[in-house]
Amino acid sequence: MRLILLGPPGAGKGTQAQRLVEKYGIVQLSTGDMLRAAAAEGTPVGVRAKSIMDRGELVPDDVMIEIIAERIGHSDTVHGFILDGFPRTVAQAEALDELLDARDLGLDAIIEITVDEAELIERIAGRAKETGGTRGDDKSTATRLEVYRKQTAPVAEHYRQKGVLVTVDGMGSVDDVARLIDEQLEALVEA
Ligand code: ADP
Repeated sequence: MRLILLGPPGAGKGTQAQRLVEKYGIVQLSTGDMLRAAAAEGTPVGVRAKSIMDRGELVPDDVMIEIIAERIGHSDTVHGFILDGFPRTVAQAEALDELLDARDLGLDAIIEITVDEAELIERIAGRAKETGGTRGDDKSTATRLEVYRKQTAPVAEHYRQKGVLVTVDGMGSVDDVARLIDEQLEALVEA
């Protein structure tokens, strides 16, 4: 099973990704987690990415594409993977199409989780309070939502045109959203 989870910051991608990892025995490839690990280790890429992430902007496409190209070559992805946080731009989506084509791999589904912006702002503020981090300060939250609208929302359109996009309403509880995802995935598998 090879999946992509798309959705704005605060949509609950990470939570749903972890559940799908267990359900399908696949690995979660979260570019946000990879960049945070690189930043914590103090690698050159990590150091550069840290200030970009803190501002809520995007790490350059060429850096991200190189990270993913390397990562999907690992043997732990043989049963599949779920991409969480990638692709975040149309250029990244096109590069991923090429990477997968070159390996003769297809995608089973691209799952887009939609949530109202007002709800997102509340969720992000709540999460920042819990973690005591800087990820939720107003300016970077606004930047992250704007970057999503301008650069990442068109990624859903890219996949809609290819006919492999499923959209689920992310406004409900974690369990509600999980059920909607499962229903759509089962419908796809049966089709
Ligand atoms: P969020 O907290 O919005 O769910 P992530 O944990 O996925 O976001 O990513 C945190 C930050 O890492 C992003 O705001 C961005 O700066 C950077 N990042 C992660 N994935 C990508 C990507 N595919 N392209 C560019 N930047 C990325």
